[in-house]
Amino acid sequence: MDKPAGTSTVFVEDLLGRIDRGIESHLEWTQRLLRCSVLRESPGDDVLRADAHRLCRLGGWLERDSALLDGFEAGIAERLLTTHRKMHDAVRAVCQTVLAARPSDPADLKSFEENQTRLVGLLTALREVVSDRAIRRDPLTGLPLRHGLGQTFMQRRSDAARFKLVLHVVMIDVDLFKTVNDTYGHPVGDQALRHAASILQDSLRRSDVLVRYGGEEFLAMLLNTGARGALATAQRLLEAFRSTPMREGGLELPIRISLGLAAVGPAETLESAVERADRALLKAKQDGRDRAVMAGDPPAGA
Ligand code: GH3
Ligand code: MG
Ligand code: MG
Repeated sequence: MDKPAGTSTVFVEDLLGRIDRGIESHLEWTQRLLRCSVLRESPGDDVLRADAHRLCRLGGWLERDSALLDGFEAGIAERLLTTHRKMHDAVRAVCQTVLAARPSDPADLKSFEENQTRLVGLLTALREVVSDRAIRRDPLTGLPLRHGLGQTFMQRRSDAARFKLVLHVVMIDVDLFKTVNDTYGHPVGDQALRHAASILQDSLRRSDVLVRYGGEEFLAMLLNTGARGALATAQRLLEAFRSTPMREGGLELPIRISLGLAAVGPAETLESAVERADRALLKAKQDGRDRAVMAGDPPAGA
């Protein structure tokens, strides 16, 4: 598997399938160990070999695709391989003593339990990272990213025409955010972005589109009866920020936003609407920030 991470649904599904099978088969080891101990039943010659961790399907895949897995999370492949080998070593040690009718070392059983738990934990965490990438969610704020936005935009634009509503594209930018980073450090900046995302999410309707567009910018798509409704929503967002400072430890930090809105023309492209909303946002910044500005009409024909 040499495809770049997260590039197609089939690829991601295949990856998730492999991870799930890895989890299931390594949970089954508890039963196999039990059968070996109680019934003196051999778990199979391949399992008793010193290189069993390589013969195992999960182990082979981890070795082959370690670079790919590291692309999802640096160092995950090595941690998985080490834990997986330790688990196989422990299983072998326990089964060999049982089959030889010798008492097993409790340390081997403990190692099996610990490494099995750890392996399943690592695989579960990897599964989450892969799924996140698949749905292209921003791990920091939990919001969707801008990929695939064109399709959503077209859908909303045709909904607007069908229901005689107006679609607004809204660019939202955190004010003087660089100062937050520079004054309090990047982790507090990250926390401020989470704070901003959560206020936006709580203040918008569930049916509104909200994505993290990039850096400290968010994009929303609103369906309203007209400009007045869209501006009222923008005012509601501004008020929500004004009344809810970010609280982090003992710190209380006011976070403000500026907004640029553009009413989408019936044939306008996403790029054109974003460009107009961006220009309105720039005007909001120039006029003093902590405010919303509505762009002029869409270009003729759009
Ligand atoms: P303005 O009011 O004009 O928008 O000023 P600003 O300081 O918000 O804008 P500027 O574009 O100068 O700075 C944006 C900063 O956002 C710079 C960048 O380092 C920071 N940033 C972008 N993404 C992240 C992130 O994920 N985490 C953190 N902590 N900072 C980020
Ligand atoms: Mg910005
Ligand atoms: Mg900014």
